[in-house]
Amino acid sequence: MLNEAVRSGAIMEFGDTVVSLENHTAGVRVATRSGRIHFARAALVTAGPWITTRLMPELSDFLEPRQVPVYWFTPKIDSGILFSMEHFPVFLYECVDGGLLYGVPSIVSNEPGVKIGFHNRQQTPIAPDWNNTPVKKRYLSALAATVESIFPELEHSPTKAKNCLYTMSKDESFLIGKSKNLHSVYFASACSGHGFKFAPAIGDALAKLATGQQPNVPLSVFSAGRFDRALPT
Ligand SMILES: Cc1cc2nc3c(=O)[nH]c(=O)nc-3n(C[C@H](O)[C@H](O)[C@H](O)COP(=O)(O)OP(=O)(O)OC[C@H]3O[C@@H](n4cnc5c(N)ncnc54)[C@H](O)[C@@H]3O)c2cc1C
Repeated sequence: MLNEAVRSGAIMEFGDTVVSLENHTAGVRVATRSGRIHFARAALVTAGPWITTRLMPELSDFLEPRQVPVYWFTPKIDSGILFSMEHFPVFLYECVDGGLLYGVPSIVSNEPGVKIGFHNRQQTPIAPDWNNTPVKKRYLSALAATVESIFPELEHSPTKAKNCLYTMSKDESFLIGKSKNLHSVYFASACSGHGFKFAPAIGDALAKLATGQQPNVPLSVFSAGRFDRALPT
């Protein structure tokens, strides 16, 4: 996607941090830690769990970053073919106790096996300036027991376990919209652990918003205003 953006004229800058966004007559003034200043007609902020720390504190009441472990399992000898991309689907499996197990086949050559995790379990709130910590042993055992009961052709213990980040909104849906305080700043965050696959559609909708066009899909359902409406009267 980054390559496609560059082919379409985007300029990429890496290794710098945006430290402030301010209203400006022509749109928005963006200042970076290295001292660069950019002026733009509009800005889109997609800073993941860090969005509230400096850039958009107006969203802090609605967001909670959480760490959620993901695990990689190796197939037992002679079972590799069962978990190949040709034979094994991306799946979401509802356990009898309500746990939602998700997984993907080993589709990337540097992925250490079949990737599996709980979508709605083992979530721990974290500060946005979080350092990745080892996955708790009791989480690992619980997940391994569930995987063994469903996929006996996988080795019992995962080869790797790592925490991933979910930026959760209060209702576990997306948070996409226009800033209340900055008149030409738009944001997309809190994909609540299921936004990655929607990135092309979200990017397209935000680009249309920022250039004054009508997005192909209505975005009001994802606005922060829905939480105001949900408050008891
Ligand atoms: C180990 C791991 C495994 C995962 N597995 C999956 C999976 O299988 N499926 C799935 O859907 N999701 C998965 N996720 C979650 C997925 O990566 C996130 O949901 C997704 O990346 C969120 O996209 P985003 O663009 O909103 O934020 P991010 O990808 O977090 O991007 C935010 C970017 O903003 C930058 N940034 C922050 N603040 C500033 C600032 N002030 N100035 C400039 N830049 C800034 C950050 O450096 C970062 O590059 C996984 C995450 C991890 C860590």
